[in-house]
Amino acid sequence: MKPTIALVGRPNVGKSTLFNRLTKSRDAIVADIPGLTRDRHYGHGKLGRKPFLVVDTGGFEPLAKDGIMHEMARQTEQAIAESDIIVFVVDGRVGITAQDKEIANKLRKIDRPVFVAVNKSEGLDRGIAVADFHELGLGQPYSISATHGEGVRNLLDLVLDPYPEPEEDVADDGVVRVAIAGRPNVGKSTLINALLGEERVIAFDMPGTTRDAIHVDFERAGRKYTLIDTAGLRRRGKVFETIEKFSVIKTLQSIEDANVVILVLDAQQDISDQDAHIAGFALESGRALVVAVNKWDGLEGYTREQVKQLLERKLKFLDFARFHYISALRGQGLDSLFRSVDGAYAAAMAKLPTPKLTRALLDAVTRQAPPRHGAFRPKMRYAHQGGMNPPLIVVHGNALDHVSDSYRRYLEHYFREAFKLQGTPLKIQFNTSE
Ligand code: GDP
Ligand code: GDP
Repeated sequence: MKPTIALVGRPNVGKSTLFNRLTKSRDAIVADIPGLTRDRHYGHGKLGRKPFLVVDTGGFEPLAKDGIMHEMARQTEQAIAESDIIVFVVDGRVGITAQDKEIANKLRKIDRPVFVAVNKSEGLDRGIAVADFHELGLGQPYSISATHGEGVRNLLDLVLDPYPEPEEDVADDGVVRVAIAGRPNVGKSTLINALLGEERVIAFDMPGTTRDAIHVDFERAGRKYTLIDTAGLRRRGKVFETIEKFSVIKTLQSIEDANVVILVLDAQQDISDQDAHIAGFALESGRALVVAVNKWDGLEGYTREQVKQLLERKLKFLDFARFHYISALRGQGLDSLFRSVDGAYAAAMAKLPTPKLTRALLDAVTRQAPPRHGAFRPKMRYAHQGGMNPPLIVVHGNALDHVSDSYRRYLEHYFREAFKLQGTPLKIQFNTSE
C-alpha cells in the first residue's frame, strides 16, 4: 500500500509550500483537466517509481479548546493517527519556538517515524541551521528549502527508504477489488449492506491493526469481488455497519488499494466540494471508476432529468465513467451497476498488443497530425503498453516534448474508442528520442 506522509507544524513554517512541491505532478491524467478542482490538503506524490500520499495538516494549534482552531487540531490529530510517516516542519530562520516544543512533545508519544525538516534553510550554514533543533528530541533534523527544492529529495529518500518500489505488473487474478467511496450520508453503508446482505460473503478479514484495510470477499452473479473498506466496517449478525467517522485519508487509501472505485453521490443533494474532491482523487489515482447516483427513489420525472443534466455537466471530467442511478435502500439498479464494474475492470486490465496500438496510433496521426511547434514537428513512430490499471500507453517518436495537451487528449480519446476502454482513465507517456 502507498505510504501516507503527514506534514505537521505550526502555521507559516512552509508546510503548504512543501506540499505543493511534493505533489507537483507531471502525471498526464490530471494535466489540465477542465472543471477539476484539487483539494489542496491531500495529494499524490512520486519519488522515482515510489508513489506516496501527502497530507498538509494546516496549522497545528495544540492549545485550542474550541472553535475553528480546535477543529483544526482535531483534524491534525486524526491525520497523525492515520498516516504512516510524520514530517515535522520547523522554520530554520526563526529557530525553535515554544509551540515547536509543544508539538514535539506530542509527536514523541506516537509510534510512527517522525522526521524533523528544518525549512527555509537556503543560504544558511547547514550545521548551524539544524543544530538548534536537536533539542526537540526527535533525532537528526534535516535542512531543506521548500521554495528552492534543496534537500527535499534527500529527505524523501530517507522517509521512503523502508518502502519497496511497487511491482511492475498489477496481478490480474480475476478478483475485482472494489472500493466504495463518497462523503458521509450518501448511502455507502446502505449500499454495502444491500450488496453483502443478498450475496454470499465468503470471508471477512478482521484487520490486525486499526491501520489495516478490511477486506470482504463476496460473490455476485458468479463473479468474485473483494470489497475494500478502510473505515472500520463491522459485522453484527447479517448487518454491516461502519463504526468510524468519515475519514478522508482512509477514503484515499481504499481508493489506492482498489481496482475499481464506486463513487457514491446523493441525488437529493447538490454536488459539494467534498464530492468533487473525492472524484478528483479517484481520477488522480488512475483507478477505474463507476459513478453511483444514489437515493434515486426520492425523485420524480422532471427533477430526475434536471439532476442528470446537472451532474453530468458538473462532473464532465469523469465522462470516461458510466453513471448509474440507483437506490441502495430498495436494492434497485445494483445488477447493472455491477455490470459496469466488470466492464471498467476489463478496460483497466486490457492487454493492448504493440502492433494494434501502433496501428491505432498511426491511424490517429493520419486523421489529424500533431501540430507543429515552432521549428519542431512531433513525429510519432510506434506505441506499446507500459502498464495496467490504468492502462499506460507509451508513444515513441521524435520531438514529442512538444506535443500539446489538446493533442494528447485527442490521442487519448482515439485510443479509448479504438480499444473500447470505457470506465478507466488512460495515461499516455511520450518517449522521445530527440
Ligand atoms: P504554512 O502555513 O506552514 O503552510 O506555510 P506556507 O507554505 O504558507 O509558507 C509561509 C511563508 O514561508 C510563505 O511566505 C512562503 O513563501 C515562505 N516559505 C516557505 N518555504 C520557504 C523556504 O524554503 N524558504 C523561504 N525563504 N521561505 C519559505
Ligand atoms: P453513509 O454515511 O454514506 O454510509 O450513508 P448511510 O448508508 O448511513 O445512509 C445515510 C442515510 O441515507 C440513511 O438514513 C439511509 O437510510 C439513507 N439512504 C441510503 N440509501 C438510500 C436510498 O437509496 N434512498 C433513500 N431515500 N435514502 C437512502
